[in-house]
Amino acid sequence: MAVDPVILHEKLKTFFGYDGFKGDQEAIIRHLAEGNNAFVLMPTGGGKSLCYQLPALVMEGTAIVISPLIALMKNQVDAIRGFEAGYSGIAHFLNSSLSRQQLQEVQEDLLRGVTKLLYVAPESLTKEENIALLREVKISFYAVDEAHCISEWGHDFRPEYRKIRSIVEEIQLAPIIALTATATPKVQSDILKNLRIQDARVFKSSFNRPNLYYEVRDKVEPEKDIIRFLRQNPGKSGIIYCLSRKKVEEMAQLLSINGIKALPYHAGLDAKTRAENQDLFLMEEVDVIVATIAFGMGIDKPDVRFVIHYDIPKSIEGYYQETGRAGRDGQEGRCITYYSYKDIQKLEKFMQGKPVSEQEIGKQLLSETVAYAESSQCRRKLLLNYFGEDYPQDNCGACDNCLHPKARFNGQEELCLVIELIQSLPERFKLEHLATILSGVSTAMTKSYRHDDLPLFGAGKDHDVRFWGAVIHQGIILHYLDKDIENYGLIFATPSGLEFLEHPHEVMLVEDRTFSEGEDEEEEDLSAAAHGGGGGDPVLLSMLKDLRKDVARGLHLQPWIVFSDPALEDMTIVYPLTLKELSEKCQGVGEGKAHKFGKPFVDLIAKYVEENEIERPDDFVLRSVAPKSGNKVYIIQAIDRKLDLEDIASARGLEMGELLTEIEAIVSSGTRVNLNYYISEQLDPEVVEEIYAWFKEEATSDSLQDAIAALEDEYEEMEIRLVRIKFLCEVVN
Ligand code: ADP
Ligand code: MG
Ligand code: ZN
Repeated sequence: MAVDPVILHEKLKTFFGYDGFKGDQEAIIRHLAEGNNAFVLMPTGGGKSLCYQLPALVMEGTAIVISPLIALMKNQVDAIRGFEAGYSGIAHFLNSSLSRQQLQEVQEDLLRGVTKLLYVAPESLTKEENIALLREVKISFYAVDEAHCISEWGHDFRPEYRKIRSIVEEIQLAPIIALTATATPKVQSDILKNLRIQDARVFKSSFNRPNLYYEVRDKVEPEKDIIRFLRQNPGKSGIIYCLSRKKVEEMAQLLSINGIKALPYHAGLDAKTRAENQDLFLMEEVDVIVATIAFGMGIDKPDVRFVIHYDIPKSIEGYYQETGRAGRDGQEGRCITYYSYKDIQKLEKFMQGKPVSEQEIGKQLLSETVAYAESSQCRRKLLLNYFGEDYPQDNCGACDNCLHPKARFNGQEELCLVIELIQSLPERFKLEHLATILSGVSTAMTKSYRHDDLPLFGAGKDHDVRFWGAVIHQGIILHYLDKDIENYGLIFATPSGLEFLEHPHEVMLVEDRTFSEGEDEEEEDLSAAAHGGGGGDPVLLSMLKDLRKDVARGLHLQPWIVFSDPALEDMTIVYPLTLKELSEKCQGVGEGKAHKFGKPFVDLIAKYVEENEIERPDDFVLRSVAPKSGNKVYIIQAIDRKLDLEDIASARGLEMGELLTEIEAIVSSGTRVNLNYYISEQLDPEVVEEIYAWFKEEATSDSLQDAIAALEDEYEEMEIRLVRIKFLCEVVN
């Protein structure tokens, strides 16, 4: 059916409230409505949903939308129902979460022909009764969303997706539109083949996200590096991805303890907590969500300012999808990934239990990730090339490699050697194998193929395997070489590569970056890194203690109120020279306190540093998570949210006294909590004032026992403890 563009625009406005189409949307919709197949490659946030929602509303019959995520489906259905106020039959979803009554309603609406959009999970589509039902319904078209799930080479393969074509044939044929945001040329070809829509018109928008900045960092002290980054970017929203649930928990705790509002998200949390944590992130109650890749699908938060990969992703598709969640509003979006080869080995180990074919694919995808991470080329160029797109500029100005370019060399001869080798072999081989031959390293593979005897074996032995790997990789980016789609990963020379071999010319290449080996997880002992184990400067420490005594005397305060011992120790480790550094880098020193007392201390330190020519570490003290501190983090977060202490205690199965002990431990480790909401409700203000005054004027240390001994005749223990916490947080910490 031909569609009137005027009607389309009208519906766009009335149903969706938009004034115009984005990108190729209109062309796609018209193509589909005219009864053709379509294949849409559009980056996340590009507006793929509209490409099937709008035609579904204007075409005759019901559109079947196949989508892998139940949560997503529900959102979309609710949104569409919202357009048609008061009438809910226009869109439905069909999945295993429906009650019998809901199911019946869906069936009736479908048979009455009022439902324009039906969202189905692939599992539900394979069910006999659903197929039977849909045979009775007029289908306008099928939309296969997240179509990369079809391919084993995609990052989210789902076997049921491979049955879609045969089910479509069972129900009734209708046009098919497949949509995805991540697809390498290999995955694209798999999708078209599997859905048998090779005739589909391909609508491909550029995958370039110009506002995203890409960077790969050496994974050395990543926790510390991340916290430093977060402190430099206070209040910004971001996601930190970790591979394991355990790491997610640890990282979220570490951040909370270091004063960053962060919550965990992973599939091991119960649904309620997950939903809550997600909501708190969306509503900006917390700044950072630490998550496994379970988080982010279908999340449309426009102002995510950074995406950090604590662990290297398993594939570039995954990486691109996840980084794609940054800067959807077109503003700042920083994508930082930590990389060490140890992590790659760990990932390879995980794969060992899997079927061989899956391992092969997994390894290949991982090797692409390694190539990306280690490359010194423009990251944007690498990424776009991976998805089959050329990036024409030489310097994108928004990736680490473009901002800090490495010296280039003329790789004309090297590239010729690679192409020569490829042409001399009767079969195609993988990048690693070719690199091994050229560098003359004998392996089981080279032996079994008798490649050790090749004339070109060791022809480039001045360089190592890595060097040759980088040359081949760049040959691919430059289109002199390519990867075989059918036998993915095997390298061949393209016509322009052969032409190059005939008439070689200068090509500027770069060697890969080098990274440190990376640390073993077991060796990563955070508590050791935490306080430096008192490994500060003893001379400075005694000078600071003298100073503290003088200052306290002058102000009629107890010395411990001015700065605590741990704070002084931190000063002897990080040598703060400004009040800002003092409050940022030393535990128990807030901004207020730094301003109140800090000046003579930083002056003394500055003089000391200069006289003794001390090289200051560019560092801060990382507050570590004590073992078994699950309660600790929960408590900090709960107090942040101003929950009643009784509720917090009962949620963790603690007595009130035990809870206070936990809070005291938190406070004595230098973290501040604000209990005023609770204290002002529970305690008489006069009592608070009197106990507070005692701490300020009479206490000689922060000892709880001393306080109770001195005050227990007049006040309840609970009151003393609460006010002491308040005092420590406001005055001492
Ligand atoms: P994708 O599925 O490609 O990731 P969505 O379909 O979820 O993207 O759309 C991304 C965002 O773009 C949504 O917030 C959507 O409301 C918005 N959007 C889609 N089409 C238009 C349009 N024509 N004009 C304005 N905003 C649009
Ligand atoms: Mg989508
Ligand atoms: Zn670049």
